[in-house]
Amino acid sequence: MEGGRIHSMKCDRCENAAAYTRRYSGESLCGECFSISIVRKTAKTISRHNMIRRGDDVAVAVSGGKDSLSLLHVLHQLSGRGGYSVRAVTVDEGIPGYRDEALDIARGYCRSLDIECSMTSYEELYGTTLEEALGRTEGGSCSVCGVLRRRAIDHLALGADVVATAHNMDDHIQTFLINLMSGDTAKIGRNASPRRIKPFRQIYESEIVFYAFVNGIPFQTEPCPHADEGMRTDIRRFLNEMEERRSGIKNGMYRSIERISECVPDAKTLAPCGRCGEPATGGVCSVCRTLDALNVAKMHI
Ligand code: SF4
Ligand SMILES: [Zn+2]
Ligand SMILES: [Zn+2]
Repeated sequence: MEGGRIHSMKCDRCENAAAYTRRYSGESLCGECFSISIVRKTAKTISRHNMIRRGDDVAVAVSGGKDSLSLLHVLHQLSGRGGYSVRAVTVDEGIPGYRDEALDIARGYCRSLDIECSMTSYEELYGTTLEEALGRTEGGSCSVCGVLRRRAIDHLALGADVVATAHNMDDHIQTFLINLMSGDTAKIGRNASPRRIKPFRQIYESEIVFYAFVNGIPFQTEPCPHADEGMRTDIRRFLNEMEERRSGIKNGMYRSIERISECVPDAKTLAPCGRCGEPATGGVCSVCRTLDALNVAKMHI
């Protein structure tokens, strides 16, 4: 852990007792000042990258985990000043014994913030649950799941100006390293659809955990049964060990990734997918290819 809860020290910004120390900066903050710092940092990321404009309809992809519910909490606070509206979109993958609790938490939390929440499931959209789909393909659980979720979220977010996902800095670095190690340089450029934004991409995962804790945000702690199957777990462990020994390494990696992505050709300049119009490296995008392989492309979308 690169930060931690501490006791009997004063907050660097007010008279309260400090509750958290950022090892990478040496800063000690009370819960309230810590929360403010997260909201401010997110607001800065949003404005620096022009992620949201006034009047936008922002659909937040909510899973019921700490990151997405914290993002909803932060965007809800910023939306008044920013002049945009926030709604939640939630997808049930159909993972037995895992998703139900998260969906209940997501629904309940949206209600408490008075935020509209729309839901769909793989079953409803594709006529198959994740478990059934995995039995029909050689693809890794998370890559198949990610593709199905992406399309399901786009479906729910129809009409929205932007789709916000709660990927944090750790996720961002892990994805970069996975693409790097798989030789997938096309994915290293800034190739995400301009409609998709990641307002938490400059926030450490450990800080989001503390933000959720300080703000009493309920979230599912049970991990997905497939979570350990991919390369991501090994990379996460490696990065956390490095950060433990040399605090600030994730910030350094983030900055490098920003610079490297600028040099890699932008996928937006590549031809759009013949089926859905998203940027594609060869005729049909990876989402449409996966749907074809699963034989679910002709479902209700
Ligand atoms: S861990 Fe993988 S399989 Fe589980 S919900 Fe996330 S993407 Fe889907
Ligand atoms: Zn303080
Ligand atoms: Zn496509």
